[in-house]
Amino acid sequence: MPRPISATVSVSSLSHNLQRVANGLQQSCNAAKPLRPRVWAVIKANAYGHGIDQAVQGFAQADGLAMLDLNEAVRCRELGWTKPILLLEGFFEPGDIAVLDEYCLTTSLHCQEQLEMLAAAKPANPLNAFVKLNVGMNRLGFSEYAFPDAYRQAQQLQQQGILASVGKMSHFARADDSPVTTTQQLQVFNRMTQGLPGPFSVCNSAASLTAGLWTTVSSDEEQWVRPGICLYGSSPFEDRLPDALGLRPAMTLAAQLISVREIPRGAGVGYGHVFTASDAMRIGIVACGYADGYPRHAGTGTPICVDGVRTRLVGRVSMDMLAVDLTPVPQAGVGSPVVLWGEGGPSVDEVAQAAGTIGYELLCAVAPRVPRVIAV
Ligand SMILES: *Cc1c(COP(=O)(O)O)cnc(C)c1O
Repeated sequence: MPRPISATVSVSSLSHNLQRVANGLQQSCNAAKPLRPRVWAVIKANAYGHGIDQAVQGFAQADGLAMLDLNEAVRCRELGWTKPILLLEGFFEPGDIAVLDEYCLTTSLHCQEQLEMLAAAKPANPLNAFVKLNVGMNRLGFSEYAFPDAYRQAQQLQQQGILASVGKMSHFARADDSPVTTTQQLQVFNRMTQGLPGPFSVCNSAASLTAGLWTTVSSDEEQWVRPGICLYGSSPFEDRLPDALGLRPAMTLAAQLISVREIPRGAGVGYGHVFTASDAMRIGIVACGYADGYPRHAGTGTPICVDGVRTRLVGRVSMDMLAVDLTPVPQAGVGSPVVLWGEGGPSVDEVAQAAGTIGYELLCAVAPRVPRVIAV
């Protein structure tokens, strides 16, 4: 029998979360913006660890898919995805342009080097592109100073038949924690793109879930939003759990107890004895450790469910095992089911908080040795 651990991916939860985002956007439509934006479902990093194949299935109703890896984009086409695909970092070298051409991939254009590579390219069909403006993330994108000229160059490439549509995009640095900063960054976007034709895209999960934010972009051109994390049932906001946002966990990391023991008062548990029992107690050993992608920084008190009962992790996480307090689960024994996060357990965001990180990192880091189970 294989080791009792698995990561179950629910395709219907992926679809549910997409629908939830689309409904929220629909509800915030108003007289000035009567149509909801189109949705690129972001599936970078192997769909945040959930698998490209499952994402293509679960997000069948999305208007497009967005990612960074060219091979993942090609995989989507091979799976039969015919709607747009956006490459969030664009292409990396001249040879990539042939792949964009062959598979009809939309590129972002974030630096002058990319414009120059395009100018020297001869794609058989003109490519779709979004020119990226840096509004303060200071990661990718043209500065306010350079953007007007970059957009003009893209228009020239359009006239030369190298580009088809030319749009505008940006990315907020603090959509999850600072509405003030986001409003300021949106104002920069509005000012810099005023009057420039073409579709545009600015909102990630946090911005897409912030009621009415997308409606304050001044352009009347076609808008695209780019939610990622929320589609997997994890919250982009530190102070709101996914349940409260109507999201369902798309990944459930589950294992079993492989040992149960009684320990006396004063006994230490695991490496370093960082937990010692204040009374005699029962502990369970779970077949999951940091080599499975469970965070080693999760300490005593991290929530975990055993046999449907919420309890706590105790002591240090080992490579292949971790220990739990069985006090509230007296019936538990070897073979009892354990949910580390997901359906029937804590949210991945609660585990992430206990480990000083974010749900994104945990979902992406589930190790290849953990068998994936696909649920409909
Ligand atoms: C990852 C990413 C997104 C999605 O972000 P979430 O916080 O997961 O919603 C959107 N846009 C860009 C450019 C990204 O890199």
